[in-house]
Amino acid sequence: MSSVMSPDPIVKPGGRHQTNVSARANALAERLEKGASALATFASSLTEAEWQPRVPNDGRTIGLLPEAIYDGVGPGVTTATVQFNHGNADVIGGGMLADEFIVLPIIFWARQLPPDLPRWGLAAKRFMRENYTRVIRVTGPVQEIPSPDARVTLDPAVRDRWGIPVARLSGTTHPETVRTATFMQARTRDWLRAAGATQLWGKPPRLRISGGQHQAGTCRMGNDPQTSVVDRDCRVHGYDNLYIADGSVHVTNGGFNPVLTIMALAFRTAEHVAQAW
Ligand SMILES: Cc1cc2nc3c(=O)[nH]c(=O)nc-3n(C[C@H](O)[C@H](O)[C@H](O)COP(=O)(O)OP(=O)(O)OC[C@H]3O[C@@H](n4cnc5c(N)ncnc54)[C@H](O)[C@@H]3O)c2cc1C
Repeated sequence: MSSVMSPDPIVKPGGRHQTNVSARANALAERLEKGASALATFASSLTEAEWQPRVPNDGRTIGLLPEAIYDGVGPGVTTATVQFNHGNADVIGGGMLADEFIVLPIIFWARQLPPDLPRWGLAAKRFMRENYTRVIRVTGPVQEIPSPDARVTLDPAVRDRWGIPVARLSGTTHPETVRTATFMQARTRDWLRAAGATQLWGKPPRLRISGGQHQAGTCRMGNDPQTSVVDRDCRVHGYDNLYIADGSVHVTNGGFNPVLTIMALAFRTAEHVAQAW
């Protein structure tokens, strides 16, 4: 694809508008061509391990259903359960489960194809075409068990473009988190089987660094200044006038997406600040 004619029927042939539209369309086509070429280069550089769905410490399973269940335009989450938040036998904590957001076709290709399906060729294209709206992912963030081994520190050597040391993640999550995630993954499988899924896939949870989108615990809340940064009112231990209001005061992620809790705590903290000053 190297040039595109204006598809606009109201533009008169040869007119100034057509020249502008054609120029813009050609520029866009060139950019698309470059983008497609870069994507193809990137995709062909991926190892087989990188093709596979990422495996965070939540219980997740992907299932193929007999009928189309998504419209493919999103956002997609339609069903959730809080049945496994607490009181699960033999594991600590739990969390909510939900069907996941609609993903773009390229993300679908990268993360949601069955592991035994070829990534290229007719079979891959056919699977994408026939099953994009029939594949569903059920998942949920589990309440991670705090671990002193999992740390965020300042990197002593690497700095960002402003010269500020970058965050360095080390350690892994707690083994109990893996047990809870494994329990939750079994529930996602129950869900999908009951919904009629004809094929299920997804890797078992494992010990790993947890550094995704729900960061917590770097300024954890507690009564003891030896083991926490802020007190129950989110005031930094030992200071009268220093408060923290964000996700860092959470001691765990609680098995849910954290923003509503962050906001509730921020309002509560603001009330304490207003009362104290
Ligand atoms: C892709 C993605 C999807 C998510 N989806 C959901 C969801 O659906 N539901 C949900 O509940 N949560 C979701 N989360 C998680 C949620 O967004 C975070 O937990 C939340 O935003 C954390 O809030 P925070 O105030 O702790 O930190 P942030 O929102 O990260 O705020 C930190 C602020 O500090 C600023 N900052 C950083 N360094 C400096 C500096 N040196 N000086 C001044 N300012 C600085 C940053 O610019 C930023 O504005 C998602 C996160 C991601 C990444």
